[in-house]
Amino acid sequence: MTAFGQPEKPKLEISELTRDFYIYTTYGDPGNGSLYPANGMYLVTSEGVVLFDSPWDKTQFQPLLDTIQARHHQKVIMCIATHFHDDRTAGLEYYRQKGIKTYTTKQTDELSKVKNQPRAEYLIQKDTVFNIGQYHFETFYPGKGHAPDNIVIWFEKEKVLYGGCFIKSTETNSPGNLSDANIEDWIKSIKKVQAKCQNPKFVIPGHQDWSSKKSLQHTLAILKKYLKENPKDK
Ligand SMILES: [Zn+2]
Repeated sequence: MTAFGQPEKPKLEISELTRDFYIYTTYGDPGNGSLYPANGMYLVTSEGVVLFDSPWDKTQFQPLLDTIQARHHQKVIMCIATHFHDDRTAGLEYYRQKGIKTYTTKQTDELSKVKNQPRAEYLIQKDTVFNIGQYHFETFYPGKGHAPDNIVIWFEKEKVLYGGCFIKSTETNSPGNLSDANIEDWIKSIKKVQAKCQNPKFVIPGHQDWSSKKSLQHTLAILKKYLKENPKDK
């Protein structure tokens, strides 16, 4: 419910990023009773649709599939979750049961197992290039950051960097949920992503606005500031 009779936000929002790339947003409760947006992405290929992360809101697992089918006349064939938190992995088991090939890294799977999160059917053992239809993308593990297992997805040709929660939006100045974070390593890991993923045209953070290309630099600034103000935090 929203205050003062404002219309409620739709539970699932989808925007075209660039040809065949779409950002979808659902809302979850970060633990304080409020609703907070989480971004995922999907890519429409000639072989089917690839999902990057599952919706956070479990009521939107099926509506996302239905909307994709209606809009693109394509089935979702694959879903990769970029770390073990439930704003990334919540739908993995649901999607596996729908016949979608679900993936995480082995490292994510180990954490998901311990934390009782839904797990993927297929495990990525090391940084991997996937060739799906006319598109190629690479999973890249830069080191610890927001979570010990966070990966990013890099489309070298289209210069799309999908960062998940490893990358903070320029809309925020907070490092966000640090329950599994390692700030010092995160700074090093950001630099590795900057070195690898050069001149991105699009940089997609896990939450909030994605219109800026500067969110990697912005994340670095947030982390450095946080470390300065909280020198004991590692
Ligand atoms: Zn997140």
